[in-house]
Amino acid sequence: MSSPVVTRFAPSPTGYLHIGGGRTALFNWLYARGRGGKFLLRIEDTDRERSTPQATAAILRGLTWLGLDWDGDVVSQFERRDRHAEVAHEMLARGTAYKCFSTQEEIATFRAAEEAAGRYPVFLSPWRDADPATHPDAPFAIRMKAPRSGETVIEDEVQGRVVIRNETLDDMIVLRSDGTPVYMLAVVVDDHDMGVTHVIRGDDHLNNAARQQMVYDAMGWQVPVWAHIPLIHGPDGKKLSKRHGATGVEEYQAMGYPAAGMRNYLTRLGWAKGDAEIFTSEEAMAMFDLSGIGRAPARLDFKKLENTCGHHMAMAGDAALLHELEAYLAAANRPALTGAQHERMVLALPFLKKSAKTFPELLEKAHFLMISRPVLRDEKAEAALDTVSRGILKSLTPRLQTASWTKDALEPILTEIAAENGIGFGKLAAPLRAAIAGRSVTPSVYDMMLAIGREETVARLLDAI
Ligand code: GLU
Repeated sequence: MSSPVVTRFAPSPTGYLHIGGGRTALFNWLYARGRGGKFLLRIEDTDRERSTPQATAAILRGLTWLGLDWDGDVVSQFERRDRHAEVAHEMLARGTAYKCFSTQEEIATFRAAEEAAGRYPVFLSPWRDADPATHPDAPFAIRMKAPRSGETVIEDEVQGRVVIRNETLDDMIVLRSDGTPVYMLAVVVDDHDMGVTHVIRGDDHLNNAARQQMVYDAMGWQVPVWAHIPLIHGPDGKKLSKRHGATGVEEYQAMGYPAAGMRNYLTRLGWAKGDAEIFTSEEAMAMFDLSGIGRAPARLDFKKLENTCGHHMAMAGDAALLHELEAYLAAANRPALTGAQHERMVLALPFLKKSAKTFPELLEKAHFLMISRPVLRDEKAEAALDTVSRGILKSLTPRLQTASWTKDALEPILTEIAAENGIGFGKLAAPLRAAIAGRSVTPSVYDMMLAIGREETVARLLDAI
């Protein structure tokens, strides 16, 4: 029986959650969740100078917004440093590591000489096979006793078989002379202790995999499945940078993309299955696999992102969408909905969501319900309210006061008024839009009237007359 899948996301808390990191987390989440496995979160905060609690908080916020929930507590790598040191000593005891007394100066001199001789400087410690009886009473680092010949083979689910000649790698320090573990050791110890079965991460870590695999071997631990995924590039095929647009997950939240759409888009960014384009997270979990991950860097395509988000807006349940809209307003530092706006939004969301791709676009279409009287009119709206049109609205208003407030009841009234005045419905709609929304381009007049209600509709018409 195969062991349950355990994946992890292991960001370094040195900034915000990058969109590439968000996608890495998403792939790990989908892979685990689709297999009844666990998705763990580890903060790689061993670099004390560059790690900040603010960055950790930003990463957690970004993941939470994306809807990527992790299992158990967040693991701090730094807090596990004693365990890392313990493993370094265990390697020593197993004879897969040794005490190295070489000083910084000695190593630097060695390197300089190798470089001067035109060789790639792979430091070979003279202490590797030294008799412990010759050990001085001096500080030492613990170095891994890496194989000196042969090859280390990384069987990568995305990159294929990656072969590294062992002679190109030196005996990596696992524990510094000041007793602090190195990052490369910490990653392996943590992944092992956390029971991680699949390491899915950016291919900028592919180079690390060989050395990390040597640590697994040195400890006699089961090597995880490796999957190094290509980075995300900008639309021009160059490495994604600020120049292309937003790179932070939270920036996308502030721009008003719905999280479900973002998840769908990021899932398709570098992964494919047949012609599946628009899917829910549940569907993605069922489909997601490592074999669908491409080897070429994926290009960010903002048009496609918007399109995908448009589908998810339309697919969303009304209550959940309203909730997310309110969260968007808070994240974007925009005023919260007032009681009246909220009430109208509940009625309007079912039609507004059908044609909006982002929350700002949805709010733009919701302008008529966000405003309160007196309605400010733009130039075109003003022009639509000439004397004749005002007269027509005047004859309409009393009929609205007694009508049932449903589309079925309102439709014949508006049609009649248009016929009585010998005009087409379009000619009637223009002054209505002007009076209700102060604009010439709005949602359907029925939808607007139903959303703001009879009282407000009649009041706005009276204002315009
Ligand atoms: N902490 C590393 C990073 O932020 C990830 C290491 C890993 O996934 O093994 O890039």
